[in-house]
Amino acid sequence: MKRLVLPLWLILCTPSLLASTVTTPATAHIPLETALRDPAIDVEHYDLDLTSDPATQLLDGVATLSVSLKQDASELTLALHALPVTVVLVDGQLVPFSQSPDRLNIQLPEVLPAGAAFQVVIHYGGIPQQVLEPGDSVVSGVADGVGWKTIRRSSYVLNEPDGAMSWFPCNDVPSDKATYTFHVTVPDTLRAVANGQLTSTVSGPGTRTFTYDMDSPMATYLATVHIDRYTQVTLPLRAGLEAMVSIPTMLGANFQKANWQQLPAMLKFMEQQVGPYPFGTFGLIYTQGQDDYALETQALITYPGKALGGGAGGYLHEISHQWFGNSVTPANWQDIWLSEGFATYFEDLWVTRDAASLKQRVLTRLNKAQASRMPAPYVTLRHDLFAPRVYQRGALVLHALRATVGDAAFQRFLRGYYQRFAYKNVSTPDFIRAAAELTGKPSVTLMLQRWIYDAVMPPFPKS
Ligand SMILES: [Zn+2]
Repeated sequence: MKRLVLPLWLILCTPSLLASTVTTPATAHIPLETALRDPAIDVEHYDLDLTSDPATQLLDGVATLSVSLKQDASELTLALHALPVTVVLVDGQLVPFSQSPDRLNIQLPEVLPAGAAFQVVIHYGGIPQQVLEPGDSVVSGVADGVGWKTIRRSSYVLNEPDGAMSWFPCNDVPSDKATYTFHVTVPDTLRAVANGQLTSTVSGPGTRTFTYDMDSPMATYLATVHIDRYTQVTLPLRAGLEAMVSIPTMLGANFQKANWQQLPAMLKFMEQQVGPYPFGTFGLIYTQGQDDYALETQALITYPGKALGGGAGGYLHEISHQWFGNSVTPANWQDIWLSEGFATYFEDLWVTRDAASLKQRVLTRLNKAQASRMPAPYVTLRHDLFAPRVYQRGALVLHALRATVGDAAFQRFLRGYYQRFAYKNVSTPDFIRAAAELTGKPSVTLMLQRWIYDAVMPPFPKS
């Protein structure tokens, strides 16, 4: 994610924001917990059969979850926000269920042992409601939360961190990655786009059903579906890979063209830095939304329908997340700096492109961080999930490691770390251990611990 930070004066002076604004209570004290996860289950595949018409805002869903148990269980709990469930079946058998806010509790037919695998089919539907984050606003009835969003007869999804439950029942934790199939039925005047490979388009009476397969593991926060009328442009990236750029026709075919035309150069840059692009398809999609950020939705990067600050550097940021964030995914939200710190690091490299200007950029960032006494990038409170410390000091961790071990050892680490955790999850201790091993310098352990966990920023190493 790359968020455009609005200055306070602009927020205070924007008339539309002054009209009937309701802000959810500030909840700086809320810890980043894992209450939305069921530790007993591992969802291996989500098959989501969705029918939606943005004109009515209704979403009807049949979610089929392939689940295996990590421990004995007689019930399971999924995250689901504000959508009524009508029927639940486990391996074809009707089972009792109950709903409470953001929770769907399902009784299994019997106590099942660890290792048991079964299918859960959940029929649900209604008008999706965005999940409001602490501090989010509802301005004149328009929510500024996460999840399924409908605007001007189009719909799109921005989940991070916990919006997935606004449109499908899920084990909503980054460490439970799964493959996905999306069948999205929409009015035949519209197109649906989702993560992965388009495998079929089937016409029905007044409808079209688009099926997409995401066959690489994906965290729930990276899943997305878009429904609108689009201009679609195919852009060759390199042999065997092309980008599909989808632009709502409302925005015009040349919307942000100066940025998306740089995709081939950006992909080449990242492949040279790290290794092959992780996924079988590459998409970039714009929305009609006015969100202040882009999101690295897996193999289908989402950008809002307005210009964001940061220009092409922001695009490189989201592309780099395909390796760091999407393929190598933080195990817990506390580890989010392992996603945002890496993306900010690669953005630094792309924007500067030579050693002298990179050094200056890092120095400027370091000075700002020191002046503001920027706390540790490892966060424990929800309030800090997208704070500058995660991005800025997160990137400085990598610059400090590079300055300590030298360019050659750092590149060896970068590629080795990526290969070790590709398509999996990684925790901060995993990162520190890998850095010590792959650079061949166990002494970096203490330095990294100070940079990652200490409230007081350590001195930047002399390179
Ligand atoms: Zn990001």
